[in-house]
Amino acid sequence: MSLKERIGQVEERIQAACDRSGRAREDVHIVAVTKYVSVEMTHMVLEEGIIHLGENRPQIAGPKWEALGDQGIWHFIGHIQSRKVKDIVGKFQYIHSLDRLSLAKELEKRAADADTEVSAFLQVNVSGEESKQGITPEEAEQFLTEAADLTHVKIIGLMTMAPIEDDPEATRPFFRELRRLRDELNAKGVTKEPLTELSMGMSDDFEVAIEEGATWVRLGTILVGKGEEK
Ligand SMILES: *Cc1c(COP(=O)(O)O)cnc(C)c1O
Repeated sequence: MSLKERIGQVEERIQAACDRSGRAREDVHIVAVTKYVSVEMTHMVLEEGIIHLGENRPQIAGPKWEALGDQGIWHFIGHIQSRKVKDIVGKFQYIHSLDRLSLAKELEKRAADADTEVSAFLQVNVSGEESKQGITPEEAEQFLTEAADLTHVKIIGLMTMAPIEDDPEATRPFFRELRRLRDELNAKGVTKEPLTELSMGMSDDFEVAIEEGATWVRLGTILVGKGEEK
């Protein structure tokens, strides 16, 4: 199947999920996760009009950013070591994996130095699986309170990864919980501006995530395939 056909099919499924849940299609954004594929394939994704690109390792993203940087809007979706922050700030406008205060502070410092801004999602480990990054739901309020004075890092919402399940329906409680947490934080007025965004849903579970309120879905395999990487 061609990339165009894959995108067409994903579009139909996103629209159907929006219809089922009474949501507007334009409230759901696609981040095409290109971490598995080549510069050429990433270029084709851009040519198809998908401008939000997700990468999870600075080494892999580097050549793509060099070749295509100004054509896309770049999202960092993987774990970030503090010493890599300098390679990320100025290239990636969005960070989906903000998972500790020390990282927020390093991002703030580097973004201030570069006179730029980053939009960040606070990563929450809703499922509690040990293999997953992210703060616990209980820690979110304190985190956001302590991050309130950052001026170059704008926390715009929450991100989570659901457990891998055979039945996508089984992911629903995790997505629902992330949304509930966001709404609760907004109701309490923890942040100056309300948290509007929810980054949740991947190739196997994006429809459920959209039904539960995702505003960003991160789609790799289903859009661009698995590429050369095992
Ligand atoms: C790789 C990755 C994705 C995309 O996964 P697919 O299942 O291939 O769609 C989404 N989010 C994160 C954080 C990832 O690391």
